[in-house]
Amino acid sequence: MLCAAAIPARAQSGPVGQVPPAVVGPGFPIATDARVAGDSRQTRFVLDLDRTVPFRAFLLSEPYRVVVDLPQVSFHLPTGAGTSGRGLVKAFRYGMVMPGGSRIVFDLTGPARIANSTVLDAANGQPPRLVLELEEVDEATFARAVGSDSRARPADSGSATASVAVAGTPAPAVRPPPTTVAIATPPTDGPPDTRPVVVIDPGHGGIDYGTQGGEVPEKNLVLAFGQALRDRLERSGKFRVVMTRDDDTFIPLGDRVRIAQKQSAALFVSIHADALPRGEGTAQGATIYTLSDKASDVEAERLAETENRADQIGGVNLTEEPADVADILIDLARRETRTFSNRFARVLMNDMKTAVHMHKRPLKSAGFRVLKAPDVPSVLVELGYVSNKGDMGNLVSDAWRSRTADAMARAIDAFLAKRIANAGPERPDKPMAVRAKP
Ligand code: ZN
Repeated sequence: MLCAAAIPARAQSGPVGQVPPAVVGPGFPIATDARVAGDSRQTRFVLDLDRTVPFRAFLLSEPYRVVVDLPQVSFHLPTGAGTSGRGLVKAFRYGMVMPGGSRIVFDLTGPARIANSTVLDAANGQPPRLVLELEEVDEATFARAVGSDSRARPADSGSATASVAVAGTPAPAVRPPPTTVAIATPPTDGPPDTRPVVVIDPGHGGIDYGTQGGEVPEKNLVLAFGQALRDRLERSGKFRVVMTRDDDTFIPLGDRVRIAQKQSAALFVSIHADALPRGEGTAQGATIYTLSDKASDVEAERLAETENRADQIGGVNLTEEPADVADILIDLARRETRTFSNRFARVLMNDMKTAVHMHKRPLKSAGFRVLKAPDVPSVLVELGYVSNKGDMGNLVSDAWRSRTADAMARAIDAFLAKRIANAGPERPDKPMAVRAKP
């Protein structure tokens, strides 16, 4: 185990030039501090490290962002680092995007270019540093910078670009994990596993913390809940359960949907926790959301917008996400799927309300991107509000979690039992199959 003493002291004591080089311990490189300086024309970002690391920096559009990919780094930055910026940097976030890979995502105030990016060795009393210099440019220059580099970017990167790798060091190939991650391989001997697949989707993860209004970030709360629900479902032996994530990893929204489609899931359940913005009154209880083109109310619309920002937070290139395919067969499947989703939402509400406090309007709908598989009945459950003391107490309570997971498992059981009975042996037990588009 790494003890606190293993974290190298920051190079802040001792006269200039006499600071011993940071001790490089085992484990991941450590980032100890971050600073943003400059103005709206030129802005410089500095990250203090305990050793030099390779990195790759690139631009993303819509919205304007800069992404820095690094090998996995332990961030020991001061509390609140990145919540506000300066000059061209509105704010920045940092964290893991996959095992072995970390990322820093900068939200920019406007179009900019990466004028310089480098990693410096320890010198003059300064620890090793990653330095990024941004320069204001006009819209056209920015668009060219993002677009020009598509040929040069690594084939596995999945990010659009204008990328700058540090000379002499291989740029880490960091990209959000492929959809194969987290999918358990069924045993190959014996008859094929024909049990219905339930995909549980704990929201957020890694660099994307979700809502942070409570004492525990949303990503941790929903992972713990997702695991409890999985264990409960697996105990019945009736379902094969697939998690979109089973650890603190960032998974893009599109990949979550594709996991459900690839698995021909009978049901997709996304798990989240909500927070009410400060000064907007109080709300509490669980809410079940389904997909709709038009939000059921203003709050649902706000929530969908917040949840749909996950990819932007994680530094995913949104322009590369395939657009919804217009196809009459997919349309038919989609309509049927929505009927099933709404039916399941009602079953779920009836079971949940016997166990937990529900929101005063427990069934809502909006345009959640994660619910868009045309062929997989999908719901998104907001377990409660981290902004509410009572709900927050529930969300960290083992007893509440297990009671709620029990109720949800009962609903899943009842819903799928009926579907399978109705489908009969000759009919598929799910809506018209639509193949996941590559
Ligand atoms: Zn969420």
